[in-house]
Amino acid sequence: MPAADDQVPVALDVAGAVYDRRLWPHGAPGPHLPRLEQVIRAWHTRTVAVSDLVLVAQRGLPQALGRDGDALLAQYGRVLEDDDAPNRLLELARDEGRHVLLRKHRESARRRHSWIRQRHELFHTWESGGGGVRIVPLPAHPPAPARPPGGRRSGAQELAAFRALGLDLNLPSHREILNTEWRCETDRCEYAEAHQGVLLVWPEVRDDRAVCPGCGEELDEVGPRRYTREVRVFVMEDRKDGKGPRERTLLMFPLEADVPVVLGRGPGVVNLAVEVAPPYIDRVSRSHLLLRLAAEGSVRVAWATDLGSTNGSRHAQRKSGSLGRPVDMTAKREYQFGFKDRIVLANRVWMEITDRKFVLPMHMPESGDPADIRPTATTTYTEPPSA
Ligand SMILES: [Zn+2]
Repeated sequence: MPAADDQVPVALDVAGAVYDRRLWPHGAPGPHLPRLEQVIRAWHTRTVAVSDLVLVAQRGLPQALGRDGDALLAQYGRVLEDDDAPNRLLELARDEGRHVLLRKHRESARRRHSWIRQRHELFHTWESGGGGVRIVPLPAHPPAPARPPGGRRSGAQELAAFRALGLDLNLPSHREILNTEWRCETDRCEYAEAHQGVLLVWPEVRDDRAVCPGCGEELDEVGPRRYTREVRVFVMEDRKDGKGPRERTLLMFPLEADVPVVLGRGPGVVNLAVEVAPPYIDRVSRSHLLLRLAAEGSVRVAWATDLGSTNGSRHAQRKSGSLGRPVDMTAKREYQFGFKDRIVLANRVWMEITDRKFVLPMHMPESGDPADIRPTATTTYTEPPSA
């Protein structure tokens, strides 16, 4: 229904606001309602007219905001839940002449709505700086990625590992993509099912844009990554020349501070049943191991918990350079483990947190040495936050 004549009709991108880590609580993962308030307040500061506000949310998002998420949102305006919220926002602008407040245009929506270039005065976004949150015009075109010549060379091994994803670590724009956390909003994409769509694996890159390795759709930016290390999952395979076993990497993925991930098989977890996986990956349980990275100031601690897997997990500690014998992990107990320690799942699949430095923390000084890891008391297992 169109707004009354004396009101300014506005539609607001709820997901873009509540997941925007540039807004308070700064850097915190997950959706936060106060971020929506800050954007709405900034809008009211900008315009003296009364607004007729429609809040457009991806289906399921209100529930992610809390038990009474619907009611919490409804105090600000009319709530529209939609399976394709980015498209719905643009339809409201086209059909009702609504102003739209959104984080950014999605590439898929931009393709379907070529008219937005002619009506760019309807689109606004927000900035966060020293003076608080401000509403500014949203450009119809994304800024061209910076591509300075040359750049520091990375190691050949690191380059090879990312080349398959379309990532060139020599390009600052691609390193920026790695330093950013992403979300997939595609309905029923298996990568979108965990943590409200937050991508638990590295994105792929096409034409300098981050795309989902699951569904191929362009990803939405969540915000800068917090302290992030890379986890490598590998298996031991016999060499054909009989020279003993060799490590074969199955999967690498980012582990970000305060974003716990579950390793296992299937949707909603970091899935070890990748294309190149050997058949015995079936011995890994669906939800096998919970990994968690905590970063407070310069103290970074990694924790691992076997979630009661069928074939168990074992922990091998590294002491003065050499790896100790793997020790059985008690199910549902949280173990602290050092970078370069190893954990073996179901006696066959190994994982470690690598010491590679190509993802640079943006909010914390990097020393990244195992010396950062200070011993703390072993804690008992607590339930992981439900996704
Ligand atoms: Zn996807």
